[in-house]
Amino acid sequence: MTFKNQLPQKVLLHKSEHPQRNQIIQILAKQNVSSVELQYFSRLTNLNQLDDIPVAIALADQNLQSINFLRTVMQYDNLIQRILISDRLDQTLFLRAINKAHINYYISLPLEENNFYRILSKARRRYENLIRPINRFEALSEVTEDLLSDNERLNVDARTDGLTKLFNRRAFDEYMSKLWQQYSTNQEPFNLSMLDIDHFKTINDTYGHDAGDYVLKQLADILTNDLRAATDRIFRYGGEEFAIITVNTSLEQIQKVMQRILTKIKKTDMRYKHHTFNITFSVGICASFSVQTSQELLISADKALYSAKQNGRSRVEVHAS
Ligand code: GH3
Ligand code: MG
Ligand code: MG
Repeated sequence: MTFKNQLPQKVLLHKSEHPQRNQIIQILAKQNVSSVELQYFSRLTNLNQLDDIPVAIALADQNLQSINFLRTVMQYDNLIQRILISDRLDQTLFLRAINKAHINYYISLPLEENNFYRILSKARRRYENLIRPINRFEALSEVTEDLLSDNERLNVDARTDGLTKLFNRRAFDEYMSKLWQQYSTNQEPFNLSMLDIDHFKTINDTYGHDAGDYVLKQLADILTNDLRAATDRIFRYGGEEFAIITVNTSLEQIQKVMQRILTKIKKTDMRYKHHTFNITFSVGICASFSVQTSQELLISADKALYSAKQNGRSRVEVHAS
């Protein structure tokens, strides 16, 4: 059986003294799955380490460290699929794992390689279906295509951009108005980033409109993959302009994330027909707490974007409150 391309590239592994620990690492390594090992979640120094990790695995121990570990993972991001591996059919332990850490999969020892791979690929697929709103819709339509009423399908279409499959401007307006309303009562801050491709007209003029469309799709894919679906929402705001709304993320964090994506896109070769070229973009960010209304939020993010363009493009600027 082959699991190529179905397994996660990386997993989070609870570091323990468990005798099976090495066996697990070896089985993972056989299929080039790398593991980030961590004894306590709180020791994680850099949350970026968790980017794109779809699965957390722990070997059950007597003192419940493994379950506490999975619980903290769940509290951090409940979309990460939690797998508990245990050599005891201890009902108390099992119930604790379910109740405390809401584990998604349970595997018993001795570990059967193919079964382990099968569960890992399932977990990865499940994570991916949860994390991308678009994927979520596709996964849903796979199973319940017939159950979806035409109305629901039209609703999704009306809020989705046909080219990039991202949410569109209409979805943005609705989400922003809802979010701002919530913010007025709960005061949980969020950020708006406006991203605009630099000299996009030149790309169209030089390589053709289809090449421009291709660039838009590539960028949409990179944004979708690199942002966290649990906290970030991406919209195609207009032509070559994207809006990203991030909740539960500090201004410094989102600034870093945008900078990282910019660095990545600069290095990404755009290959269209026989052309190879690179693109850059500019970003303006504004935090909800530095303005009074959602309109002002948009204007301020736009102003920051404008100054990024003025200051030479290929930059991220934050609205100074
Ligand atoms: P700047 O760095 O100042 O943002 O320059 P720019 O060339 O990116 O900006 P400008 O507003 O001058 O041009 C945007 C271009 O984007 C013009 C428009 O034809 C093109 N565009 C808008 N929507 C699409 C689309 O869906 N596909 C393609 N290929 N081009 C599009
Ligand atoms: Mg532009
Ligand atoms: Mg523009």
